[in-house]
Amino acid sequence: MLLPTPTPSILLIYTGGTIGMIENQETGTLENFDFDQVLSYVPELKRFNYHISSYQFDPPIDSSDMEPTLWAKLVRIINFNYDFYDGFVILHGTDTMSYTASALSFMLENLSKPVILTGSQLPIGTLRTDGKENLITSIEIAAAKNPDGTAIVPEVCIFFENLLMRGNRTTKINAENFNAFRSFNYPPLATAGVHIIYEPHLIRKPAPEKPLKPHYSLDTNVVVLSLFPGIQQNFISSILHIPGLKAVVLRTYGSGNAPQKEWFIKLIKDAIDRDIVIVNITQCQLGIVEMKRYETGMHLMGTGVISGYDSTPESAITKLMFLLGHELSPREIKVKMNSCLIGEITK
Ligand code: ASP
Repeated sequence: MLLPTPTPSILLIYTGGTIGMIENQETGTLENFDFDQVLSYVPELKRFNYHISSYQFDPPIDSSDMEPTLWAKLVRIINFNYDFYDGFVILHGTDTMSYTASALSFMLENLSKPVILTGSQLPIGTLRTDGKENLITSIEIAAAKNPDGTAIVPEVCIFFENLLMRGNRTTKINAENFNAFRSFNYPPLATAGVHIIYEPHLIRKPAPEKPLKPHYSLDTNVVVLSLFPGIQQNFISSILHIPGLKAVVLRTYGSGNAPQKEWFIKLIKDAIDRDIVIVNITQCQLGIVEMKRYETGMHLMGTGVISGYDSTPESAITKLMFLLGHELSPREIKVKMNSCLIGEITK
């Protein structure tokens, strides 16, 4: 006799973003509106036959106002509801979605259920909205199970347009097109067309016996420093002497190259000697840092700068916040930055 499969249950968390916005008739700007109204635009959800509950941020926010305290709030909501749902879908503005996805991937240790972030480029109430399909497919992915009852995608992901991507590999690349996100250095985990085609060999396998371990603490004494030809010594010096600064994501050229000027190398070395962790990532969207490839990279490596491999800026900065939040020593942080914690770098 076949046992009835239990009805999937999904928690929909609405943080804000274009998906739930409406045009202000007087000013023409997009403003947030109530989540129940958002859902009324998607009557198709009833056809799923899933238990879908929702939690709404009050007030909903444009994702440009996203903050680490709100990432901790999301972790709290997921942890509190973890045993009651098969998966979680987070509706989020696209502008900082990759930062949130990256942060959550580190903060939700031992995750064994799907956490799918999605949003849209056009509000859900508009005729050509991309929000409906993004939401419907995200819910389907969050509920998808293997024959043994485990989740097909037990990861923090972004689903957008037709691609399911590992969240900490994503970057927003387009403010106009519906295909707004890319995962340049890791292939998509699934592609949605007529069917949703999953790539099991690319999806992480959690240890099911380990309970979810939520982390809440992040340290934001970090900065991103992007190099450009002509950057001035006093600018770099000022940044590296910000009081309280603990870590820097240094965006270099090509395969991790930087100027060889004496003052530059000296400033970097001096910062590292003051226990500031400096992580080298490339300004190229595709590819990996290889400091040994060119002399310019070798000079940088000699200062004690560590490689960020093929990390996105979003992932590197949130990983640093996460590690600093655990009050690890600079040495321990360097070891962890050089380890792949949750699929965020290729090693
Ligand atoms: N400004 C909006 C946000 O990030 C853009 C969007 O949702 O696409 O909240």
